[in-house]
Amino acid sequence: MVTTASAHIFSTRHIGPSDAERREMLEHLGLQELEDLAQALPAAIRMDGPLDLPEALTESAVLDDLRALSEMNHPKRAMIGLGYHGTITPPVVRRNVLEDPAWYTAYTPYQPEISQGRLEALLNFQTMVSDLTGLPTAGASLLDEATAVAEAVGVARRTTRKGNVVLLDAEILPQSAAVVRTRAAALGWEVVEAEDLVAALQQHEAFCVVVQLPGASGVVRGAADLRSISDKAHENGATVVAAADLLALTRLESPASWGADIAVGSTQRFGVPLFYGGPHAGYISVRAGLERSMPGRLVGVSVDADGTPAYRLALQTREQHIRREKATSNICTAQVLLAVTASMYAVYHGPEGLRSIADQIHGKARMVAAALRTGGFQLASEHFFDTLTVAAPGRATQIVAAARDRGVHLRQIDADHVGISVGEDSDQTALQAVAEAFGVSLDEQAGVGDLAGHQRGEDYLLHPVFNSYHSETLMLRYLRALSDRDFALDRGMIPLGSCTMKLNATAEMEPISYPGFANLHPFCPLEDAKGYAMMIERLGQWLEAITGYDRVSLQPNSGAAGEYAGLMAIRSYHLARGDEQRTICLIPSSAHGTNAASAAMAGMKVVVVRALADGSIDMDDLRAQVDKHRDQLAAIMVTYPSTHGVYEDTITELSRLVHEAGGQVYVDGANMNALAGLAQPGRFGGDVSHLNLHKTFAIPHGGGGPGVGPIGVREHLAPYLPNHPLVPEAGPESSYGPVAGAPWGSAGVMPISYAYIAMMGAQGLREATLNAILNANYIGKRLEGHFPVLYAGADGRVAHECILDLRGITKTSHVTVDDVAKRLIDYGFHAPTMSFPVAGTLMVEPTESESKYELDRFCDAMLAIRREIAKVEAGEWEGQDNPLANAPHTLARVTADEWTHPYSRSEAGYPAGRHAGPIAGVGQDKYWPAVARIDGVHGDRNLVCSCPPIESYQD
Ligand SMILES: *Cc1c(COP(=O)(O)O)cnc(C)c1O
Repeated sequence: MVTTASAHIFSTRHIGPSDAERREMLEHLGLQELEDLAQALPAAIRMDGPLDLPEALTESAVLDDLRALSEMNHPKRAMIGLGYHGTITPPVVRRNVLEDPAWYTAYTPYQPEISQGRLEALLNFQTMVSDLTGLPTAGASLLDEATAVAEAVGVARRTTRKGNVVLLDAEILPQSAAVVRTRAAALGWEVVEAEDLVAALQQHEAFCVVVQLPGASGVVRGAADLRSISDKAHENGATVVAAADLLALTRLESPASWGADIAVGSTQRFGVPLFYGGPHAGYISVRAGLERSMPGRLVGVSVDADGTPAYRLALQTREQHIRREKATSNICTAQVLLAVTASMYAVYHGPEGLRSIADQIHGKARMVAAALRTGGFQLASEHFFDTLTVAAPGRATQIVAAARDRGVHLRQIDADHVGISVGEDSDQTALQAVAEAFGVSLDEQAGVGDLAGHQRGEDYLLHPVFNSYHSETLMLRYLRALSDRDFALDRGMIPLGSCTMKLNATAEMEPISYPGFANLHPFCPLEDAKGYAMMIERLGQWLEAITGYDRVSLQPNSGAAGEYAGLMAIRSYHLARGDEQRTICLIPSSAHGTNAASAAMAGMKVVVVRALADGSIDMDDLRAQVDKHRDQLAAIMVTYPSTHGVYEDTITELSRLVHEAGGQVYVDGANMNALAGLAQPGRFGGDVSHLNLHKTFAIPHGGGGPGVGPIGVREHLAPYLPNHPLVPEAGPESSYGPVAGAPWGSAGVMPISYAYIAMMGAQGLREATLNAILNANYIGKRLEGHFPVLYAGADGRVAHECILDLRGITKTSHVTVDDVAKRLIDYGFHAPTMSFPVAGTLMVEPTESESKYELDRFCDAMLAIRREIAKVEAGEWEGQDNPLANAPHTLARVTADEWTHPYSRSEAGYPAGRHAGPIAGVGQDKYWPAVARIDGVHGDRNLVCSCPPIESYQD
């Protein structure tokens, strides 16, 4: 290993343990060198030789490289529309949310006591969506508008018995229609697009009708027309979905007011950069009665042990894990960071600010419309909000080119029509450029067009949170106050098994804000997106080199979206070979819940394969299932290394058996952090895998998204990678269609993984993997004898994570995993993954980024907790009143005038000592949770999913 120049090698910054620490840890495990840990993998799957990747770059070199790539993109003013709009991210929000590690390194708020800040921000998001759409229950974000439309159709399907037709508005955004068609293909829905929806409802037995507002052409339908569509639909028992622009809704009557049952859309134009298509937060809200069928997560209000109002994820929290193929959706990672950004845009501007932004946009669109009308052009509609469709017979190409020369991207609809969409950032120069491109002149006093008689009478955003923080000082303090309530990676280790909470380095994060990456519209001409094209191509090639697959698609915008895309590829492959009957998907009982939910979405039937007592797949059961379903076998989905954190040596045999029966092997690659540089799923039996770039490849979790879930496939599945209706270059024509709204999904965060791989190089990635294995085994070893490690491989070692079995302890002491998880907060830690994949256990994944100091601090905390449990076991502390049962302890509790507990205040609040350590986290740096333990049941019984009235906070 190079040591002299090591200060300049990024991998030494990324990997936690120093050389000296590594030696100590290896010694503790009885090992000579790091490479010995590679023996934990079965010899049959170990790769020989290094990954085929370029030399590792330094941080400054990768920043230069990415800056140059970003400058090959030419954003111009984006006036293309179609669901993506120019917006101005308030700098106070950009720097203190999007670019602030306190927000972006946080995990999904499953541990609500340490997540009150982001939960409040998400509750604001839900309140904003619910107010503007008029529908009472809104979720805490979906992946994008196109998938949100498809999810809404899914809600309609689950709650409407009759009919098999989905009626789509001819005005629906083309990418939304395409994503719905992808879903429909596997689930057997019939999709019909119609201009006259009332007539179409007469003709077809529809269970759902989707109305776009404003339409793709910009047209705004009158409220009376909308009402007659929904009346007709309800008469026929169909569900009404409004795909609505949230900013337009500040002026238009709410979807609820004319009868919509569900509203969906994007919140991108609430201050979230275009990012070449994503990540952006999709939204959904539903009428009363549909809340329990909603996809995705929902934040609710409950109370803590002291009766203080507190937020938590309600109902569906982990419902795919519980309900698997019967889940309402496969959504796990969503778009929390972007939902927080959009909600803060509303907090900062308030209702009047938003309305004024909408008025200005509408005014500018009217001014452009007047100029065009005066210049002799015809507009497709009199009624519009921000978007015009202009007839320019034979001249569209020329006009769009002229606008581009003047710095504006317009939409070329066909040879005879041009689309113009005004955004918040469409300034006078941009409008002037548009006028010149058409050869007309602007008159600031003139304006034509209106909002089709909509008079929004309903108020919105009346809650104080949207009316209090309109100066930058106040806004900054609000953001700081919220993020201070949360425990993110910037405070300490988050050892969540299966989630890979590793370092998200600053050099990886910086480039996403470069204007060339941040401000590009996804449907701009490819010649203006050359930097993205090159970055995406290289990233795809590197992922191919790492996984051993032949082809990669970067379109899926979460791991579960990747599962779905991969299973759809398998489905298409079987169909192309005339094997319509191959619809059975084998899934081991230990699998991540999204696997089964994705299989159901891909139209497959799930058959469970048993696990043995040691957690490995029961090969006898597998053989029996393969035999039984030989002719209908579509695929097996296996996670490798398994969700039990073990490298099973049966993977080669398993692949052989399934392939012999004509099935395909899907290797869930979310655990790639245990493989990168050591083994390649594309070479050891997989036909397709998804990766989670937001786990292994350094994209931060953002409090529950964004994610990128690319899939790698072997050559025979390459014709079935997702494509895109508007951008043919995004995928093969032979494919089933898109799985996301944007051609390259969440392109805007791909520079993060690009930078990570570029800076690590082949050697760095291999060392990272080995260090991840070292760290997990070190923890397992240190806790041995105190907390049994549930599963280990043949050599007694685990892979990159280990499962601590608390079931025996719970039996003797009645102390639960919950108690231990909450007590860890008092010691300054985020809990490990609870009760997955085995109930009553904690799954610990430290990742390579944690130092020995932090690992020891964690092990010391766990050992101290074990001693506390012993006191409960011994009867020294009673079952209901001890530091474990009462954890976590807030500052308010510890300093309360009254203290009646059988343990001291400092044992409660400073269990790891009052003095600061050499590294932050203890003593004066101790993290205090904002609330005490939250009552989950209360929250689900009394479902409140928008900001509670302010009085409820008073003592
Ligand atoms: C995280 C994870 C997933 C789902 O990924 P999302 O991005 O959250 O959708 C699937 N499988 C496994 C094993 C995982 O750990």
